[in-house]
Amino acid sequence: TGPLTEAVLATLAHADSVRRLQVRANADTPEDAARARALGAQGIGLCRTEHMFLGERRKLVEAMILARDDTAREQSLAALLPLQRADFTGILEAMDGLPVTIRLIDPPLHEFLPDRTELAVRLASSAHPDVHDRELLAAVERLHEQNPMLGLRGVRLGLAVPGLMAMQVRAIAEAVAHRLDVGGRPHAEIMIPLVGTVEELRLARTEAERVLAEVTARTGRGLDLPIGTMIELPRAALTAGSIAEAADFFSFGTNDLTQTTWGLSRDDAEASFFPLYLEKGIFSVSPFETIDHEGVGRLVELAVEAGHAVKPSLQTGVCGEHGGDPESIHFFHRAGLDYVSCSPFRIPAARLEAGRAAVAGIESSDSR
Ligand code: PEP
Ligand code: MG
Repeated sequence: TGPLTEAVLATLAHADSVRRLQVRANADTPEDAARARALGAQGIGLCRTEHMFLGERRKLVEAMILARDDTAREQSLAALLPLQRADFTGILEAMDGLPVTIRLIDPPLHEFLPDRTELAVRLASSAHPDVHDRELLAAVERLHEQNPMLGLRGVRLGLAVPGLMAMQVRAIAEAVAHRLDVGGRPHAEIMIPLVGTVEELRLARTEAERVLAEVTARTGRGLDLPIGTMIELPRAALTAGSIAEAADFFSFGTNDLTQTTWGLSRDDAEASFFPLYLEKGIFSVSPFETIDHEGVGRLVELAVEAGHAVKPSLQTGVCGEHGGDPESIHFFHRAGLDYVSCSPFRIPAARLEAGRAAVAGIESSDSR
């Protein structure tokens, strides 16, 4: 993004003065957060935490997931805690005074596990196979999934690995307490991914509240952070009324919601048969780009309605790619969401479009 000119800034200021939708950013580093803030982001709507477990930390994650005993797992979690605390402190500092929605880890599991084929080849070609490698391969085989995107992801992983969610919540709570200690104004929110039933959310929430209470008692800081959920499975949208009972906010993950509503792989479909579908006129635009009003969009509307009926104070937003798409922003405005969250570089256009959506709303209500 180039610098915003005076004329653009004036146009954006007009849009800001009329729009109802807030515009937040999807950002997961302090650098991206600062960039988004400079472009007018009013907070972070999605801070993904998966990437924080890659690179040098990968070994710790492997140890945590494959741990044979509690001690090994606890050791890797203890090593990850200060690293995560520093991750969150940096982001909260960059976004001081503004909301930061931190999503608990949501990887497809295979991204964290050692490559099965590579391991097998290494073992087969070694004259004296390493015992550790052999056990590792057995564990990787056990966890292998045919469809990782439909597998041990999101809240499922959090519930399956003891201590994982608690470690992340503790890191968030301690980062908030630290920011308060140094006179900051941190507004962290905890978001649970890939929830399909309220029972998952209740379990995750109970665990998060237990940790928040513990850190509150230790630090003397009030850490009553909002806890909410992604709505990114059709079942979550259809049972949004009961899910709202355990949620302070909903954030629509329209990437996964599109994938699961259409039964289309978000990773493959656009490259495989979408060109044919566009050519034949079955799609006029990719449903991963612009919200599909009748299907995915309908689920969003149903969930907002049901959620608000149960809990009028429920905050609602969208953090899938559609949050930065102009056409979709008009849809989210009409659906009554509180905010859209998009990539930093799309923030200015999203502010403008949210303003246009508000003006279009006035026009359509006048003509009625
Ligand atoms: C989504 O599914 O729309 C979403 C925002 O989460 P992710 O893209 O990380 O799966
Ligand atoms: Mg998702």
